[in-house]
Amino acid sequence: PFCLLPELIARHAAERGDHPALVQEGKQLNFRELDQQANRVAAALQRDGLVVGDSIAICGSNSIAYALLYIGALRAGVVVAPLAPSSTPESLMTMIRDSAARLVFVDQAVDQALATIDAAKQIRLLSMDDSRTDESFSAWLDNAVPKPVNITAEMPFNIIYSSGTTGEPKGIVQSHGMRWSHIQRGLVFGYGPDCVTLISTPLYSNTTLVSFLPTLGLGGTVVLMSKFDGAAYLKLAEQHQVTHTMLVPVQYQRLMAREDFDNYDLSHFQMKFSTSAPFHAELKADILARWPGGLIEFYGMTEGGGSCMLAAHQFPDKLHTVGKPLENHDIRVIDEECKELPLGSVGEVVGHSPAMMTGYLNKPEKTAEAEWYDSEGKRFIRTGDVGRFDEDGFLTLMDRRKDMIITGGFNIYPSDLELELRKHPDLQDVTVIGVQSRSWGETPVGYAVLKPGTNTEADSIREWFNQRVGKTQRLNRLILTDELPRSAIGKVLKRELRDQFQEQFG
Ligand code: ATP
Ligand code: MG
Repeated sequence: PFCLLPELIARHAAERGDHPALVQEGKQLNFRELDQQANRVAAALQRDGLVVGDSIAICGSNSIAYALLYIGALRAGVVVAPLAPSSTPESLMTMIRDSAARLVFVDQAVDQALATIDAAKQIRLLSMDDSRTDESFSAWLDNAVPKPVNITAEMPFNIIYSSGTTGEPKGIVQSHGMRWSHIQRGLVFGYGPDCVTLISTPLYSNTTLVSFLPTLGLGGTVVLMSKFDGAAYLKLAEQHQVTHTMLVPVQYQRLMAREDFDNYDLSHFQMKFSTSAPFHAELKADILARWPGGLIEFYGMTEGGGSCMLAAHQFPDKLHTVGKPLENHDIRVIDEECKELPLGSVGEVVGHSPAMMTGYLNKPEKTAEAEWYDSEGKRFIRTGDVGRFDEDGFLTLMDRRKDMIITGGFNIYPSDLELELRKHPDLQDVTVIGVQSRSWGETPVGYAVLKPGTNTEADSIREWFNQRVGKTQRLNRLILTDELPRSAIGKVLKRELRDQFQEQFG
């Protein structure tokens, strides 16, 4: 039956109060302390006049205070809007207003960033760290017993902003019921009282919450990292005998490329997860070969419109796919005119799930654009991703619709070109974008990062590549760069590269 996260935590506090709940850099909180501190957050919010359904924003790097605030707010029925600290101050202000946050909790870096804009003076900012002298987080907490609140499954739990990969981030309200389903699904993946989950992706991201919530809800231990660092990650994994983790593909890539990777004892791992960006098959195979425990890839979106899952350790011949739809998730493919396509066709992926967003916050026109209805009136969310199901029901993703290249009337999938370009022995990271071309409409351009210690010429790589592909797929240019632009969660920002190209060569 449906249960609130703070209730679950109170239960663990009563049954196994000494068990560690949150660990970070020498600091540790057991379930009893977590429960008490969350109560003090809830009491402080109530003292400050916040009631069920009001919202607060939290913006900073991962910390114990951050986690406490989140859980304490939920206890008071207050909705949490976790915001990306890497956003520009202007964008932060937009999200603060959009989420109607009554209080905004920040760490020092965000505090300084917001100090640069006038509008921020009108909001109530509170510091999450005690390092500041004017007002400390511990002084803000309240020792009163929080008043009980009535919360049901339909009520809002948090407001998550989409990653903003393709444009402005959109606010998505998720309910307590939707979060409960994530916690319950955790049982299937072995989350439980004995699990230790290492979290080095940011807590504001949906990606992270799908491992953070089941760990605490099911009585396990969360080890938090404020910032990803390969060596520190591996040391912590060994030291805490970590069993579960969620990483994004670029983090897996960095870990597997380390010379010392095989020196660490990772034998306690039961399950590793990945989501949020393309995860290429060779990388999955390398992880399966050298990192103990299972590997699960999820494909989905913050909007909750239907997800796929690939248990890579069970389907070694399907590593090029993102797996099959989860139970009760209905995923289909539609064409440019929004007509449903038969199985096996390439088209835009649309999905229906029991836990879909009702709509974007304050953006009815964006909501309408994101919806698709089948002939029976069943509601789906459009993903903007192009993909195709194989005969066994596994989904292969190509690209985002916005990233597809149309050259001389042909559709080119940058992902096909990336797959080929990645085979060049001297390249460490690659991406392909479409840029405007007078004669072809659009034409493909590659960006690549050389492996350390190599100094191959861009032209020789381009020639090598162009001999391996069809005429329409040839790269018009290949640009070597030190690093590809990525969002904080590790997605390649193709729109930034397109702008950059336009400025430089357009
Ligand atoms: P925005 O909607 O603001 O432009 P976003 O789509 O990146 O940003 P999210 O909801 O965080 O925001 O990400 C969902 C998208 O991430 C999916 O539509 C898909 O493009 C990509 N994605 C998620 N999982 C995978 C995966 N396993 N493989 C490839 N791509 C993935
Ligand atoms: Mg999206």
